[in-house]
Amino acid sequence: MISTRKVIPMNSPQDLNILRHSAAHLLAHAVRDLFPKTQMTIGPATETGFFYDFLPEHNFKEEDLIKLEERMRELSAQNFIIEHTEITKEKARTIFAHNTFKLELIDGIPGDTVGLSSQGDFYDLCRGGHVASTGVIKYFKLDAISGSYWRADRNNQPLQRISGTAFFSQQELEDFLKRKEDLIQFDHRRLGKQLDLFSFHEEGPGFPFFHPKGRRVFNLLIDYMRTLQIKAGYQEISTPIVLNDKLWRQSGHYAHYKENMYFCFIDEQSYALKPMNCPGSTIVFGERPRSYRELPLRLSEFGLVHRHELSGVLHGLLRVRAFTQDDGHIYCTPEQIEQEVTNTITMAINVLKAFGFNEISLMLSTRPENSMGSEILWEQATSALKNALIANNVVYDIDEGGGAFYGPKIDFKVKDSMGRLWQLSTIQVDFFMPENFDLSYINSHGAKERPVMVHRAIYGSLERFFAIVLEHHKGHLPFFIAPVQVTVLTITHEQSAYAHELIQKLSTHDLRITIDDSSETISSKIKSAQCAKIPWMLVIGKKEVEQKTITLRKNNGSQEFGITLEQLITRIPSIE
Ligand SMILES: [Zn+2]
Ligand SMILES: [Zn+2]
Repeated sequence: MISTRKVIPMNSPQDLNILRHSAAHLLAHAVRDLFPKTQMTIGPATETGFFYDFLPEHNFKEEDLIKLEERMRELSAQNFIIEHTEITKEKARTIFAHNTFKLELIDGIPGDTVGLSSQGDFYDLCRGGHVASTGVIKYFKLDAISGSYWRADRNNQPLQRISGTAFFSQQELEDFLKRKEDLIQFDHRRLGKQLDLFSFHEEGPGFPFFHPKGRRVFNLLIDYMRTLQIKAGYQEISTPIVLNDKLWRQSGHYAHYKENMYFCFIDEQSYALKPMNCPGSTIVFGERPRSYRELPLRLSEFGLVHRHELSGVLHGLLRVRAFTQDDGHIYCTPEQIEQEVTNTITMAINVLKAFGFNEISLMLSTRPENSMGSEILWEQATSALKNALIANNVVYDIDEGGGAFYGPKIDFKVKDSMGRLWQLSTIQVDFFMPENFDLSYINSHGAKERPVMVHRAIYGSLERFFAIVLEHHKGHLPFFIAPVQVTVLTITHEQSAYAHELIQKLSTHDLRITIDDSSETISSKIKSAQCAKIPWMLVIGKKEVEQKTITLRKNNGSQEFGITLEQLITRIPSIE
């Protein structure tokens, strides 16, 4: 027997895997001690922790997790050395003679030997990769019992899975558990219901219903983007949701995307609901001859697209079957790409920051192997994109060969308040579609030329963006898109007249404002405004009426007393 115990440094994700897999053994050890008739199967580390699948004598119950955790702590305190040895299969078959799962595993391992891990008097079949001793496994938590099957096959023996997580420090464990709790509490589906924003119904799975307040937010997202786009020289168009097969065959969607499209018949002809807005945009561009003087031509569209997603992957507003894109197509010359992309990057960063995303990462994806378009064109476009990134003074990564076959692109990812990365904005250069739809413009010498097309979306899907912003802010939408921004709360009905006078005076400032002058107590009024996550509460009592002032209470509980209407107006947050 050769002992191959390794000394493990502890700071990389690999080390965390080793720790978590060792925690799975520790769990099995505790299970053997407390429930000796349990059969062990496998216990790997996962992305967020570990699990072990068991065949228990009696099904485990929630209470057992506490007992097991306690036993794990005792075993950790005893600090058993974890040893790994290679033993012959023959010997292993004797050791695990009572466990058909382990016997099956032994048969499946190539070679004549298998690994045996041991700590104290507990041993397990394992190929190795553990921490030095059980004492290293200090910060762990068991969090769930669920059903599983041997080898994840429904036809096999049903098992019970106990899962948990482990970290190298108490702080990391606490942060993880807090984040997990937050993810449940601030799930946009839950917030959507709480704040009465949107809902989902079996009458249209994957097709969201927006309630008045949710639709207001949605419209505010559109208004904000529309204003920016007008400033940036876009002209808004709208193209039909239903278009015939001929178009989708020409665009290539019929050949490559048919499974995700919805079809219907009109006058015995096959039509499809558009899964993308681009072909519609090219029809608008190609509708009449274009001059070089019109370029760059920026056409924007809040385009409603439909994509068939399997019911199993639908997930609130994050994964739907119908969504609106803030789509934009820029038709330009290759020389114009750089300036257009520079402006688009600036715009995207400003928008993402306005919504509170301060950690933004950019990725440039370059020419893949099977690409179309000339080498010169690719080089020109790629260096235009690089220069645009440099002009914006942003750090970016390069995904060599990661571009689409029809052109290089830039993707934007943001990190949210719960540490998750989301891909949002995208800028995609396209040499193919202008070719495919035979788009042209007349250059300054009177000759026909092919424009380049730049597809870009800042929000991406408005539905998805809505969900991400909502979760990022834990339901407290930024002031400029809050469905209700201000609520006036009177302490008694004697202040009603003054409250209405205030609303009247504030009405010129485009605020979304409500009043609660009901007979409820002020504390209950504050509580319900807080639950509705209204950013500002204007609390009006006797003193405020006498002094013609306002108490401004923010949703976080901070209060400012005795401010005048003029002072209040200067405090209205503005964007841009
Ligand atoms: Zn192991
Ligand atoms: Zn497009």
